[in-house]
Amino acid sequence: MNKAMNFYGGQYQKATSGAFFENINPATGEKIGDVGASSERDVNEAIASAGEGFRVWSKMSATERGRILRKAADLLRARNEEIAKIEVEDVGKPLSEAIEVDVMTGADALEYFGGIAPSIHGEHYDLGNTFAFTRREPLGVCAGIGAWNYPIQIACWKTAPALACGNTMVFKPAELTPRSALVLAEVLKEAGVPDGVFNVVQGEAEVGQMLTGHPDIQKVSLTGEVETGKKVMAASAGTLKHVTLELGGKSPLIICEDADMDEAVNGAMMANFYTQGEICSNGTRVYVAESIKEEFLNKLVAKTRNLIIGNPSDMKTQVGALISKEHFEKVTGYIELGKKEARLVYGGERYVCDDSEISGGFFVEPTIFETDNEDARIVKEEIFGPVMTVLPFKTEEEAIEKANNTIYGLAAGVFTSNLQRAHRMVNALQAGMCWVNNYNVNPMEVPFGPYKQSGFGRENGLATIDAYTQLKTVYIEMDKVDSPY
Ligand code: NAD
Repeated sequence: MNKAMNFYGGQYQKATSGAFFENINPATGEKIGDVGASSERDVNEAIASAGEGFRVWSKMSATERGRILRKAADLLRARNEEIAKIEVEDVGKPLSEAIEVDVMTGADALEYFGGIAPSIHGEHYDLGNTFAFTRREPLGVCAGIGAWNYPIQIACWKTAPALACGNTMVFKPAELTPRSALVLAEVLKEAGVPDGVFNVVQGEAEVGQMLTGHPDIQKVSLTGEVETGKKVMAASAGTLKHVTLELGGKSPLIICEDADMDEAVNGAMMANFYTQGEICSNGTRVYVAESIKEEFLNKLVAKTRNLIIGNPSDMKTQVGALISKEHFEKVTGYIELGKKEARLVYGGERYVCDDSEISGGFFVEPTIFETDNEDARIVKEEIFGPVMTVLPFKTEEEAIEKANNTIYGLAAGVFTSNLQRAHRMVNALQAGMCWVNNYNVNPMEVPFGPYKQSGFGRENGLATIDAYTQLKTVYIEMDKVDSPY
C-alpha cells in the first residue's frame, strides 16, 4: 500500500494534519494507498522552502538552469515505464497511452524549456544620447494546481517553464492522482535542482486555497474546471497574483462535405475517446455536413465497435476506466439525460469487464448521440467522458455560428480538403487552439491555451515565457538631468 507524502526542503515530509484521504485505483475500485493531507503549517513550510530555493535558483546562470532541466528530461524518460504504471493505477487510463504520451510529453517540456532558458532575455532601446533596456526577471514563488487527467504532464508543463525562467514551484497535484509529482521531485533533485526549488503539497481544494491566499506566492497556474478557475482568480485577487487558467471546454469539430471521410472519422474518435474522453480540449460537439452525416455515422459506429475496453494495464486496451465513482456517476448521469434529449446511436451503458480483477471498475462504453437540439444539456455542458454528440449543419456560416455558440473557447477543429475554406473557418472560430485535418495534437513548440471562459494564459512554446516572467525596464542617463528647477 503506497503512502503519498509532501516533498519540500529537498526531501519527503510527513503531513502534520493527521488527516488522510484515500488513493483509489479506478479500474478496480479498490484502495491502493493513503495520502496525508497537508496542514496549513505544512503548506507554509513548503512555501518557505520555495522562498529559500528562489534565492539560490534565481541567482544561477540560465545556462546552468537549462542544463539541469535537460538532464531531468533524460532522467524522466528513463523512468517512463515506472511513472506510466503509476498513472495507470491512479487515473485508470490505458498503459499504451501513458507510455506513449504522458511521461514523454512531460519530458519534452523539461527539454524544450531547458533548451531555451539561456535565450530568455530583455531588449535594448537606443534613445540617441542615452538608452534603456529591459530585463526579463522571474516572478518568485509560483503555485501549480493540477487536474487529474494528465498528472505528470500537467506537473511538467507548469514546472518546466517556471523553473526555466528562474522561479520556484509549490505544486499541488489533484487529490485523485497524488503520486507522479513526487517522482518528478525525485528526478529534479537527482538532476541537480537545489533544495526548495520544486515542492509538492498534497491535499484537496482547501490546500489549493491555502496556496491561492498566501501572500508569498506571486503566481498561480491552475488546470481544472471553469468554476474552480473563477474561485482561484477571486482568491488570487486578494494579493494580486499573476494567474494562468487552463480550464474546461465543449469544443466543436466541424466535418465539411469535402472532408476525407476516413480521416474525419479517425479525427472524431481521437477527439472523443482517447483517455476515455477525459481531455479538456476534446471536440465533443461534432458538426457534420448534412449531406454526409449518414455515411459518417455508419463508418464511425463500425470503427467505435472495434475499440478494446478493459484492463488499463493490458497494452491492447484502448479505453480505460473513468477516474472515480463520483465522476462515473456524473458521466452516466449525462448519458441517461442524453437518452431523453437526443437519439442514442451507439454505446450508452456501463461496461462490465469479464476480467474479475476489474469487475468493480468505473468503465463506460464509448457513446455516440445524434441531435439537432443546440439547447440540449449534453450539447452545452462539459461531460468529460467518452460521450460524443453528432450535430448537423447545412452551410459554412451555420457551422461557425453553432460552433461559437458556447461559453467555452479552448479548442476547435475543421476537416476539409478545401484550403481556403479551412483558413476562412479557423479565422472565424473562437478558440485558442484550432486544428485542421487533425485533432488533439500538441507539439511542445506550439502555444496551447484558451479563449473565453476556458481561461487565459498559454502553456508550451515561447508564449509561456510571458506567463512566468516580469519585465523590468531600466533607463540609463548618459547626460545630465534636464531639470526645469
Ligand atoms: P477541479 O477544478 O475539480 O480541480 C482541479 C484542481 O484544483 C485540483 O487540484 C483541486 O484540488 C483544486 N481545487 C479545487 N477547488 C479549489 C479551490 N477553490 N482553490 C484552489 N484549488 C482548488 O478539476 P478536475 O476535476 O481535477 O479536472 C477536470 C477539469 O480540468 C475539466 O474541466 C477539464 O476540462 C479541465 N482541464 C483543463 C485542461 C486545460 O489545459 N485547459 C487540461 C486538463 C483538464
